[in-house]
Amino acid sequence: MASRTWPALVLRASVVDDSEDMVSAVLTDFSPVAIHDLAERPLPPGGLWDPTYPPIPDPPPTPLHWNVCFNDATERDQAATAIRAVLPELAIEAVDLPDEDWAARSQAALTMIHAGRFIIAPPWDMPAADVDATVIVIEPSMGFGTGHHATTRMCLRLLSELDVSDLTVLDLGTGSGVLTMAAALSGARRAVGIDVDVDAIQSAESSARMNTLPDTITFEVSDFRTSPPAAADLVLANLTGGMLTSSGAAIGALVKPGGQMIVSGFDHTEADGVLAAFPGFGEVTRLTEDNWIALQLRR
Ligand code: SAH
Repeated sequence: MASRTWPALVLRASVVDDSEDMVSAVLTDFSPVAIHDLAERPLPPGGLWDPTYPPIPDPPPTPLHWNVCFNDATERDQAATAIRAVLPELAIEAVDLPDEDWAARSQAALTMIHAGRFIIAPPWDMPAADVDATVIVIEPSMGFGTGHHATTRMCLRLLSELDVSDLTVLDLGTGSGVLTMAAALSGARRAVGIDVDVDAIQSAESSARMNTLPDTITFEVSDFRTSPPAAADLVLANLTGGMLTSSGAAIGALVKPGGQMIVSGFDHTEADGVLAAFPGFGEVTRLTEDNWIALQLRR
C-alpha cells in the first residue's frame, strides 16, 4: 500500500516566548490532525511538573520547532497565512510529510483525557457533542492541570463520585482552573478557585473563556495561608505533601462541619503525615496511580 503524505507546516523560531501560545490560538480556527513538537526541551528542576516546587518554575527558554499536519493543503495554506499575520518573524515552511505513523502518535499526546465522568479536551480534539460526559476545554500548552498529571485525574475521579449540586466548593491551588471548572459544571452552588500564582489565575481565566460556565465560578489570586477564603462544603487541595502537612490546620478550618475534602499531590511515604495533619477528618476513599495518592476525607 502506498503510504500517504500529510500537507504540513514546519514552524520554527529561535525562542518560544509566547509564540507557542499564539500559534496554538491561531490553530484552533483550523483542524490540524497532529502537532508534533520537535524542539529539544531542557527540563525545569524536578521535571515538567514537580509538585514540590509550587509555584511552577518557569521553563528554560527553548526554540520552537513544530510540525503541524492538516487534512488538506487548502486548510494548511490558510493556516500559514493566519500564522504569518500574527507572527511575521516565525519561519514557516509548507511541506508534504510522509505518514510514518508519527502523526497518530504525536496526536495521542495532545488528545482528550477521560477522568471519571469528565473529559479534558484540547480545542483541536473535542469529543462528539452528544458524548455522555462533562467536557472541559483546556489548551495543553498551559502545561499543568491539563489532566496529564495523575493527581489531577484522581481528583477528577473522586469529584465524579460526589453530588456537588448545592454545595460550595473551594479549590486551593487551582492552577489551570480544571478542578474549579469541573465543580462548577457539576452544579456546585459556588465554585471558587484560588492560586498564589498570578500566571496560574490568568491561565485559569483564559481556560474559563473557552468553556461555557455558569456564573457561580470565581478565580482569585491569593494565598490561603495568609488570606483565608470563606469555608466551603467541599475543599479541593491538589498541593504537595509538605504543604498539606504544614498547613493542615489552615486547610481543615476551610471545610465546614460535615463537609468533605479531596487532597492529592503526595506519595505513599507522605500519606500518613498528611492524614495526621487532619485530625478531625476520616478517610472515605483512597486512590493511587503511579505512586501518587488522592484521598477523600470527611469532617
Ligand atoms: N489544581 C490543579 C493544579 C495543581 S498544581 C490540578 O489539580 O491540576 C498546585 C497549585 O497550587 C499551583 O498552581 C500553585 O501555584 C498553587 N499553590 C501552591 N501553594 C499555594 C498557596 N499557599 N495558596 C494558593 N495556591 C497555592
